Amino acid sequence: MKADPTAQSALLDLQAQDSVLAQLQHRKNSLPEHAQIADLQAKANDLDGARIEADTEVSDLTRAQKKADAEVEQVKTRRARDEERLNSGAISNPKDLESLQHELVALERRISTLEDDELEVMEKLEEAQTRLTALESDLTAINEDLAQAVDARDAAIVVLDEQAAAAQADRAQAAAGVPDELIALYDKVRAQYGGLGAAALRARRCEGCRLELNGADLRDIAAAPEDDVLRCPECGRILVRTAESGL
Ligand SMILES: [Zn+2]
Repeated sequence: MKADPTAQSALLDLQAQDSVLAQLQHRKNSLPEHAQIADLQAKANDLDGARIEADTEVSDLTRAQKKADAEVEQVKTRRARDEERLNSGAISNPKDLESLQHELVALERRISTLEDDELEVMEKLEEAQTRLTALESDLTAINEDLAQAVDARDAAIVVLDEQAAAAQADRAQAAAGVPDELIALYDKVRAQYGGLGAAALRARRCEGCRLELNGADLRDIAAAPEDDVLRCPECGRILVRTAESGL
């Protein structure tokens, strides 16, 4: 293949911008914020699950507490009514009086038991509420960290995208100076060799594979017409001669 030295040199510029673009893409993919966001998101999900559980527990216990409260009130109302009857003097029959007194003792015991139960529920409710408050506050903190990490990631991406746009513009400019045929060869070689399709020959060394070429190869290269498109005898990449090739 033939291409004039200016076109070959433009191909090196094109390769340089493609390398910049690949680096920028790599940096974009490996931003530390990606892992940080995934980690925070997982923590936030766990915390939210625990928060929902605690919230349900608080609702259940609030209901249980109201029920216990109502039960105590109900028995207390009955006790008040019995006491009123007892104190009114309306009951003169000793048997009825005794039965009423027995009932009052039973009610007193019942109130005491219900109040113990109510206290237990209240303690549990208080614990659940404390847990819920702590989880909510942890979740708020994690969500703030998450929002910050997302902002940091987005800001980093904006900067990288700006750099990529500049590299893309430079690449387009370089590509304008390279014949389509050479670009097609470059794309093919580049795909084969991990992103590096064209390399400069500097100080007798291919900058693609970093190997120093032997005397015979260097003599062949020196003898080749300057518009010959050469391949590195070591790695097969398009080898572009420069003023510092050392030929
Ligand atoms: Zn090479």
